[in-house]
Amino acid sequence: MASPRSKPSQKPNVACIVDEVAHLDVGQIMVSTGFKQFDPSVIPQYGYGRLDNVVTGLEFERMLSSTGPTDGKILIDGEAPRAVAILHCVGSRDENFNRYCSRVCCMYALKFAHLVRERTNAEVYQFYIDMRAFGKGYEEFYSRILDEGTTMVRGKVAEVMAAPDGSPGKLLVKAEDSLLGVRREVPVDLVILCPAMVPSDGSQELRQLLHLSQSGDGFLLERHPKLDPVGTASDGIYIAGCAQGPKDIPDTVAQASAAASKMLGWMARGEMTIDPIKAEVQEERCGGCRVCHALCPYNAISWVEDEKVARVEEALCKGCGVCVAACPASAIVGSGFTDQQIYAEISGLLAV
Ligand SMILES: Cc1cc2nc3c(=O)[nH]c(=O)nc-3n(C[C@H](O)[C@H](O)[C@H](O)COP(=O)(O)OP(=O)(O)OC[C@H]3O[C@@H](n4cnc5c(N)ncnc54)[C@H](O)[C@@H]3O)c2cc1C
Repeated sequence: MASPRSKPSQKPNVACIVDEVAHLDVGQIMVSTGFKQFDPSVIPQYGYGRLDNVVTGLEFERMLSSTGPTDGKILIDGEAPRAVAILHCVGSRDENFNRYCSRVCCMYALKFAHLVRERTNAEVYQFYIDMRAFGKGYEEFYSRILDEGTTMVRGKVAEVMAAPDGSPGKLLVKAEDSLLGVRREVPVDLVILCPAMVPSDGSQELRQLLHLSQSGDGFLLERHPKLDPVGTASDGIYIAGCAQGPKDIPDTVAQASAAASKMLGWMARGEMTIDPIKAEVQEERCGGCRVCHALCPYNAISWVEDEKVARVEEALCKGCGVCVAACPASAIVGSGFTDQQIYAEISGLLAV
């Protein structure tokens, strides 16, 4: 069978990309390490890895590609399929796996429907929970797919199984149609799963290396969701694309362009401004316990062995206050925010 999971054919004169480790001295970093596809085999009822002709969206993209194993033809066992099912939200919007919406699946599922209709005479069934056609021109594209004759079934699929003997298809998709309130059994030749987007391999190690934070879904956390969606809590480190969360190509490009222009802005200026609120060690009170040194998330506190005191590197300190709260000798204060200054402010307010 010409499957999108089979190895791509070896074509002559294809340039080989070889990994290379490069050591570069840089002042700023954009992290754009993208996403990984959720492994749908952990949902056994969908049959991925167990049943032939159940493929993921990325595998179907390979089949669509003119450089893919079928030269862009949609073929199952050498023949065009008669019916194709596309399953949305595989591992997304699912309390058991990932609660978030992966944002791109509805639209690429519609793109698949269009391409299947264009390249074959197959019937296309889309099994969806909610349709999210949120972008410019997306709703219009959805209407076009409906006009092209794609059947939309609102409901989660219960099971994909091998078709019984005598069935018109190779697979049987069992689902509940929640709009009509009926159970459906649809024979198809190909099932395309739309798995969740999850953080890419290695993103945790990179996050720890660069002292970045992550949001509840495991993607990298931006400095501010509205006012600084490409910055991070570490100055000079920016995030773009699916490293920050699931998104499509237009949003990825917009975010990467924003991050690049911020970086160019700093390079054109030639100097950095830093926030005025910093931690400050009152060295005469420092007992040398080094609790602050171990806790600082930005590596901004160094231990001065000769003087037996901790010292804050102003350019690295973000004024987060972790060391201020942790110091058992109360030797660290926020500059401009000593206890005496805060009490004075309160007294001043109460005096008015
Ligand atoms: C099946 C499918 C179909 C889609 N179709 C569409 C579509 O039609 N239109 C659309 O707008 N969007 C589509 N998307 C979404 C689109 O793929 C993403 O928006 C886009 O890939 C995000 O780009 P990115 O650069 O953030 O991530 P990626 O494309 O994932 O790129 C990240 C890159 O970083 C590399 N990398 C990862 N870790 C490291 C590391 N530690 N060091 C160095 N390099 C690293 C990876 O190898 C990869 O090359 C589709 C997604 C899927 C799954």
